[in-house]
Amino acid sequence: MDINTYQELLKELEPYGADLIAVSKNQGIGAIMEIYQAGQRMFGENKVQELMGKQAQLPHDIAWHMIGHLQRNKVKFVAPCTTLIQGVDSQRLFDELARQAVRQERKVEILLQVHIATEESKFGFSEVELQAFFEGITLAEWGNVVIRGLMGMASNTADQAQVYREFKGLHALYERMGRDFFAGIGGFSILSMGMSGDYRIALDAGSNMVRVGSRLFGPRG
Ligand SMILES: *Cc1c(COP(=O)(O)O)cnc(C)c1O
Repeated sequence: MDINTYQELLKELEPYGADLIAVSKNQGIGAIMEIYQAGQRMFGENKVQELMGKQAQLPHDIAWHMIGHLQRNKVKFVAPCTTLIQGVDSQRLFDELARQAVRQERKVEILLQVHIATEESKFGFSEVELQAFFEGITLAEWGNVVIRGLMGMASNTADQAQVYREFKGLHALYERMGRDFFAGIGGFSILSMGMSGDYRIALDAGSNMVRVGSRLFGPRG
């Protein structure tokens, strides 16, 4: 971990008003504490077990974001120790979150993950599915779940124009969903896109939250 890299990254994000999620998956407590001491308070993990272990050991003013694919049977464990569950990638997962949020009597803030990449393997709603999701759901069914915005991952390609197009498409969808479904509700204000390799493109396409791991911490072990 190099503090200069961290400071430079913050400077790059500033003009965009974008938040930095330091992706600490596979990183040890020491590395996380270094960046914590430099001022970072938002961290991202993609495995429930790992997130819970770190949350228990690290300072309690850290906001933990669950950024990876979440299995439905893990929802009840993860809800109490996360600030934001990014990557809610299906109606079934959403339904389970809504159920647990009511049962645990807590507000659960989430982002809906949209599939924008060409790769088959990436999780998420298609644009059509997302539209249908919002049209089909009533406010009461949301229960204690607060939908804060959208999240997406671009294709893993060297073609920067394609990456930009994919991010720009997600940005347009985010604007449209905000207008059509949250005009009177508010709170729909997070567009999480961009990782170490493509965060600059994501910022130019309208991201206001980037999830950066290896660029901050160095390669994962
Ligand atoms: C690992 C991961 C990141 C960070 O990736 P880097 O390339 O190390 O910056 C961001 N988002 C998600 C969903 C991830 O799983």
